[in-house]
Amino acid sequence: MRSGKRRILLDAGLPLDGSATTLPLRVEGIDALFVSHCHPDHYGLASQLPEDLPVYLGELTWRFIRARHVFMNEDLPNFTTRFMHPWETIDIGEIKVTPYLMDHSSPEAFAFLVEADGKRLFYSGDFRGHGRKGKLLKNLLSNPPKKIDAMLVEGTTLGRKDQHQLSEADVEQELLSIAQNESGPVFIVCSGQNIDRIVSIFRAAKKAGRTLVIDIYTAWILEEMRCVTQNTPAMDWGGIKVLAHGWPASRQYATAKSQPDIFGGFLRRIYSLNADINLDTIRSNPGDYMIKANLWPIKRMLQETGTSKATIIYSLWPGYMSSEPGSRDMEIFEWINDAPSLTFKQVHASGHADLESLQALVKTIAPAKVIPIHTEMKNAYDKHFQQVCLLDDGQSLTLKNMENSKRK
Ligand SMILES: [Zn+2]
Repeated sequence: MRSGKRRILLDAGLPLDGSATTLPLRVEGIDALFVSHCHPDHYGLASQLPEDLPVYLGELTWRFIRARHVFMNEDLPNFTTRFMHPWETIDIGEIKVTPYLMDHSSPEAFAFLVEADGKRLFYSGDFRGHGRKGKLLKNLLSNPPKKIDAMLVEGTTLGRKDQHQLSEADVEQELLSIAQNESGPVFIVCSGQNIDRIVSIFRAAKKAGRTLVIDIYTAWILEEMRCVTQNTPAMDWGGIKVLAHGWPASRQYATAKSQPDIFGGFLRRIYSLNADINLDTIRSNPGDYMIKANLWPIKRMLQETGTSKATIIYSLWPGYMSSEPGSRDMEIFEWINDAPSLTFKQVHASGHADLESLQALVKTIAPAKVIPIHTEMKNAYDKHFQQVCLLDDGQSLTLKNMENSKRK
């Protein structure tokens, strides 16, 4: 977005479908990038911007991005970071940007109010109202930004068949019923950075009298949460153990060990807190545990714990399940299918608003223009919203004179 001589970018995402790998715009003359949250489809192309460009983002967002890259053995994005805080306005010359904390599957996700030249723009970022921070959407609905000239609204769930969504509270309830009714170990495949989900699993495990077992990566993510809250579970809470021995831990252990400047005494703390657990202990009573794991190691873990009866819960967006013949996922799904003593379930709540929440927010903010973003269904916006203004990639819109013009 541009006003006078100033130009800022809101997010620089790498499309999840791989449809673009370079930034589709001129990068010279940009004064700042604002990153709404830590998902790669919002920051993944930022490394193509000049290294000295100020990148505004939440501190937790930066820590989560760092963790993802470090544990995946990827170079860290070379950001000149500037931390922003909810509802604290940042001035980039005459452009004012105010981050609004939103409910999303990432624990720190911002929408942006951008003001310049007497015009006001609201960028929704990714949001929902059915997570653990659903109150943030309620608060925004009761106290919305006024006189918005253009609202950029995500529409991830538009066109998806599963419009009836589970809330995060429903997920917790369903996990609890599984943890109570199944006798064997319960494995759960989910994102370590989806803190709402980790909390749901922890609470379900605790109520069912099971111990939650996490990996070193997830334990680290929960430590990083400490920069914003003390209220999310971590390895020094009762009821959580870190699988920190043997082959399931070896890669993540080596990563944390090799970077003491980032991890400090974290590994030592796992053992000094007696928060560590190994497969032998789990083997002695597998039904006592709920184990967060990646899909592929579950088979070997079951073999090594001598367990045949188990429940495997897939708690990610179903679109991530690869059904390509011969893929590693497919091999595991076939193995699960062929094993009569294994139960497979999908339990997931989307990180994105359903149509009802999208409409509620748009109706309340009542912008002069609604601009679809982050959607595969921009042509369907007309059906659901008033004042829709469709823009193609690279097309500019001048708010002052309300003119469309193609960028050359
Ligand atoms: Zn997201």
